[in-house]
Amino acid sequence: MGRYTESVCRQCRREGEKLFLKGDRCYSEKCAVEKRPYPPGAHGQGRRQKPTEYGIQLREKQKTKRIYGLMEKQFHNYFKKADRQQGITGENLLILLERRLDNVVYRLGFAASRKEARQLVTHGHFRVNGNKATIPSMLVKVGDEIAVVENSRDSVKFQEIKDQAAYKTPPEWLSVDVENLTGSVLAYPTREQIDTAVSEQLIVELYSR
Ligand code: SF4
Repeated sequence: MGRYTESVCRQCRREGEKLFLKGDRCYSEKCAVEKRPYPPGAHGQGRRQKPTEYGIQLREKQKTKRIYGLMEKQFHNYFKKADRQQGITGENLLILLERRLDNVVYRLGFAASRKEARQLVTHGHFRVNGNKATIPSMLVKVGDEIAVVENSRDSVKFQEIKDQAAYKTPPEWLSVDVENLTGSVLAYPTREQIDTAVSEQLIVELYSR
């Protein structure tokens, strides 16, 4: 699978806003967008041209891809799937992205970022409905139970995660039991319950060109 090799903070600086890709650091004064609020590279501080309509749509798609940590092909596949579903394509797209197991682990507060969540999932630290789940792109369903595997629960890492998760509130469509490091999917999210600050309609317009 392809991967971004660029530092995650450069991705935020390229988009000109905080994408919250690095966990706690994003909320600190060490955040690169706060320290260097201009695009990376030698011409980063030069004057920016007024973006075209296409440019605006493209940036919105790139931003969304980066937030969820996806490559172009994967992202486009989600769009095609969303487009085949009934309802509003842009909303369908975000709901599909939210249903990814790595995103759900992050939303439950069991990882500081989606990137960390993906790593924890691939390393075998989670079960879904009692079965080991190591595929971050797995789409959860209503009623699914997500749990940290028994052997990992007492590790220093998960004790730290537990301490931090106690201060986080999951979105309404998920419920969490921090003490037992388990969570469940109560419903699929509505657009209002997804706090990802993107204009999904611009992505639909881009792919409809
Ligand atoms: Fe983006 Fe977080 Fe890096 Fe700030 S610290 S630039 S929000 S990834």
